[in-house]
Amino acid sequence: MTQVKPTVVAPSTASVAVPLLDVTRSNAAIRDEILQLWAQIYDQGGFIGGPHVKNLEAELARVCESRQAIACASGSDALVLALMAAGIEPGDEVICPAFTFFATASAIWRLGATPVFADIDPQTFNIDPVHVRALINNHTKAIIPVHLFGLACDMSALRAICAAEDLWLIEDCAQSIGARYQGQAVGSIGDVGCFSFYPSKNLGGFGDGGFMTAMDDQVAAQLRIFANHGMTEQYRHEYVGLNSRLDSLQAAALWVKCRQLEELAEQRRANVARYQQLFADCQLDQVLGLPNEPDGCFHVWNQYTIRIPDGRRDEIKAVLAERKIGAAVYYPIPLNRQRCFASLGYAEGSLPHTELACREVLSLPVFPGLTHAEQDRVVAVLHEAWHAKSCLRAAG
Ligand SMILES: *Cc1c(COP(=O)(O)O)cnc(C)c1O
Repeated sequence: MTQVKPTVVAPSTASVAVPLLDVTRSNAAIRDEILQLWAQIYDQGGFIGGPHVKNLEAELARVCESRQAIACASGSDALVLALMAAGIEPGDEVICPAFTFFATASAIWRLGATPVFADIDPQTFNIDPVHVRALINNHTKAIIPVHLFGLACDMSALRAICAAEDLWLIEDCAQSIGARYQGQAVGSIGDVGCFSFYPSKNLGGFGDGGFMTAMDDQVAAQLRIFANHGMTEQYRHEYVGLNSRLDSLQAAALWVKCRQLEELAEQRRANVARYQQLFADCQLDQVLGLPNEPDGCFHVWNQYTIRIPDGRRDEIKAVLAERKIGAAVYYPIPLNRQRCFASLGYAEGSLPHTELACREVLSLPVFPGLTHAEQDRVVAVLHEAWHAKSCLRAAG
């Protein structure tokens, strides 16, 4: 049997809690600059729209290598607005993964259309283009790939499908700002990119917010109209749109934070490289499913998500919780099995890779500012949890 080296045990920090996410650490460096801008806005008034939103949009278009960026109230709204721009209506079908946050599918449902769930590639957790192709019929109007956990989907395959079948390609980039696929920034590959400023995202705001990217000026203009009550001129409503705006306070803070974006991604990447090394050092890489970065992709690691096999995920998660290590299951219930979508009629086992992922995944702390000592402790506790129980089992 392989001998396990106890290189990762860090007893000096053994009782200290490790959070899954601590946004205050990376926000500390820009605190004064943001508070100063907020004080200015406070004194001048002008809380909606204005130069802060315009400046942020220009910066986001640059960062995402898109012609246009349009701010809105949330990532969930961004998805609804993108589908509205695609002309999605009742009777239409939109293909998306079931292994994602709820908003990907609820946006489709909101417009009276039908989400059609494709299974995932078990290696990347992202939508499987082969299954997507099999689901296309006359009602299919769009595909929403989700660049889950910070990793781009197989966009060359999806783009080819959309071109051949004349479908809209709407990228759910909520978890993946800054991620790249074969040299292209996510959000600049499909027709519309949908992003979120929810505080746990890689460009996290100080409340809710989101934006959309588009390479086509006409599509961008439509998105802007839909986000502003469908208003084409003052008080002339061509469509029934949404009230979906970003506050000036949010925009000003996010504009400052944009400057950190590359550095924060590098910190996440360094944390992941260190996890991979620590897991290899104690040979946990032999038993756990560790994520990786496929060739041609630049992963921004919104989540570092491992697989714990043998039906042991929940037991190990409980040990981590008891030892105050932050860890979470994204996502425990596949969307095809959510009660609100019961009428869609997906039986258990209909998306096997998705359902297995829901039973095996566990996301570990990877946020910028996570210390080496904290990482050591995460790995040490995981190591202990895995072996404690296997020894008991081996002993009968
Ligand atoms: C967070 C998230 C959303 C929704 O963004 P909000 O800003 O919270 O509305 C949509 N899709 C995915 C994959 C997400 O992770």
